[in-house]
Amino acid sequence: MKYDVALDGPSGSGKTSIGRAVAGELGLPFVDSGLLYRAVTALYVEAFPSDLVCDIARLVPLLEGGMQYDIVTGVVSYCGGEIRMGLHDPGVDRLVSPVSAVPEVRRTVNRELVRIAGAQDVVMAGRDIGTTVLPQAFLKVFITADPVVRAGRRVAQLAADGVGASIEDVLANIRLRDTIDSSRQDSPLRCTEEYLLVDNSVDGSRAVVDTILAEYRRRRSHAV
Ligand code: C5P
Repeated sequence: MKYDVALDGPSGSGKTSIGRAVAGELGLPFVDSGLLYRAVTALYVEAFPSDLVCDIARLVPLLEGGMQYDIVTGVVSYCGGEIRMGLHDPGVDRLVSPVSAVPEVRRTVNRELVRIAGAQDVVMAGRDIGTTVLPQAFLKVFITADPVVRAGRRVAQLAADGVGASIEDVLANIRLRDTIDSSRQDSPLRCTEEYLLVDNSVDGSRAVVDTILAEYRRRRSHAV
């Protein structure tokens, strides 16, 4: 029996910090699947810096070498090579949703995610973890938060990384990514009735972490 936890939800809902905390408490590795999509996007932006839209014919050949996610460091390497761009750079934010909507990209990333989860139980965060990547996950959690709150958190995070960005620009990017992520054909972001739905709009995610842990432990105590 596997005991994976799938955490899905829109950008900036707090999946990463909540996922890390839950994983730490459960003694499981945390896998942030968004980093793999960001790595493919960074490769594309590094190769074609002047492209304002994603050109699929130029993108797909970049996937040939495959990618590897180091479960201990969280570093993504590409055919053993190095990605120089920051994965949370606004240039990556701008193109990551269209790049992620390309089925060949999703297949490449999913192959690596399934390989990782095949080796151990994990807490994995993303958009389609419970619906597509780990459909048999022991616990599926959908984390939501108000878009304005999400944008505010992202601006603060960027500022901490020394990147200045206006709340208006960040909010517009979040709304655009929400639309693309939930309306794409291939494994869109959606909350089904299998998910435990939690709202992380209020500052301080400890209550959300506790809710998830309580549900996980309740299910474990009934699991055979
Ligand atoms: O989670 P994060 O915001 O870093 O993800 C960046 C982008 O990667 C998302 O906006 C989405 O387009 C894509 N993504 C995805 N499926 C996942 C994880 C991320 O499509 N499982």
